[in-house]
Amino acid sequence: MKIKSLTFYFILILLSTNSVILGQNISITTQNDSLSQEYLLPIGAHVITKDFLIGKTHYEKDSTFVLIDKEHTVLNPIYGRIQKLTYDAYLKMYADALKDSIKLTVTSASRNYWVQKHIWDVKWNKYKDIGKNRVLHILKYSSMPGISRHHWGTDMDFNGTSSSYWSSSNGKRTYNWLKNNAHKYGFFQPYTLKSNSNRTGFNEEKWHWSYAPLSDIYTKAYFDIIKINDAKNDIKGFSGDQFAPELNIINLYVLGITNF
Ligand SMILES: [Zn+2]
Repeated sequence: MKIKSLTFYFILILLSTNSVILGQNISITTQNDSLSQEYLLPIGAHVITKDFLIGKTHYEKDSTFVLIDKEHTVLNPIYGRIQKLTYDAYLKMYADALKDSIKLTVTSASRNYWVQKHIWDVKWNKYKDIGKNRVLHILKYSSMPGISRHHWGTDMDFNGTSSSYWSSSNGKRTYNWLKNNAHKYGFFQPYTLKSNSNRTGFNEEKWHWSYAPLSDIYTKAYFDIIKINDAKNDIKGFSGDQFAPELNIINLYVLGITNF
């Protein structure tokens, strides 16, 4: 009898779930400090911990992450890993895009906290002469360590970040294809144009696409676990980290996205 009712509820979950998630859900309880919260994650997804959300993950030692095949990326294998569920969805999108003569080459995948810290510190030194706008200047396109969606293995950049490519006819055709089709595979553009919208944080990134069946859940967990008014305790350990709380970095940057 118990098994029957469990099966019934499992079928209910299947019926009520977005088809992109493929109906294979499991309820995972995470515990973090004093907070315990339930999230519904697809089977095979990386479980939620505070360290994972702020990028303190060694992808090469983590079985939920896979190496992107050389055919699909220009990245050095050290940086060429994403979650397997993201990769499976990307491969389907890549194959269909190719049928329309669109090539979606991965030019950025997962970057952990320490890689992001290196990128941040290099820029921090480079812009030391621009005064108090230094942090905001770097934040136009580069994330502070701890707040990047690239930490999660759910987000990728396609075909580079050069504005000349994205304004070329090839770049425009690729962007239009992504806008019209990426959602069919679960991908969306979190950093859309900021004018004419309430979006805050990073500038528009036509190259950056996120796998919603995972990243939506991590965004929600981030909101719950990395406490909004307590950035000073969690977003730290790099040059200029004292600005994270006063810039309202979590509210404006992590949550300042266009949703799926
Ligand atoms: Zn990106």
